Amino acid sequence: METVWLDPGELFIGVGAEVHTVLGSCVSLIVHHPRSRLGAICHGKRASRSCEHPAGGVKVCREMGDYLSCVMPFLLASFEQRGISRQELEVKLFGGAMMFTGTAPHLDLPGFTVGKRNVDTAMSFIRAHHLHLTASDVGGPWARQLIFTTSNGEIRLRRIRSSAQELDTLDAGQGIGNGRKPF
Ligand SMILES: [Zn+2]
Repeated sequence: METVWLDPGELFIGVGAEVHTVLGSCVSLIVHHPRSRLGAICHGKRASRSCEHPAGGVKVCREMGDYLSCVMPFLLASFEQRGISRQELEVKLFGGAMMFTGTAPHLDLPGFTVGKRNVDTAMSFIRAHHLHLTASDVGGPWARQLIFTTSNGEIRLRRIRSSAQELDTLDAGQGIGNGRKPF
């Protein structure tokens, strides 16, 4: 099976791959279609931005993979364009680490709000499109090492104890030191 390393802002759609990624405040939405064994995963860094998404087709926005509001509709459309209905899809959601550094979260600290906004945006999308959420592990003060097998939808996930600084490094796309070791 092919191994794919997914960095922040990237996405993968395919069969027969084992996709590895490490999430800080970023969020991975994973879509799997059991019958065709097709799987898709994104690694979004930010919740949303204002850009037009025409209803009559699929637009590939600039730096699409960075923004959940851009990449999630693209992932869904990738299945629908293959004639796969939403009801057949299994959706999973991971990431969105939130650092509680002894200060109240309502103070709008970046490390807290980025992860929370990412998770809230993904959950709103899942609800709005009536998608079947079969697994999730979100929030908390830890990074996550994740392996997604596209053909059967299997997830292997490990929480990694992390400092705020490590999460910042991770969100900048530089990876946590042990994030690329196998399980
Ligand atoms: Zn867009």
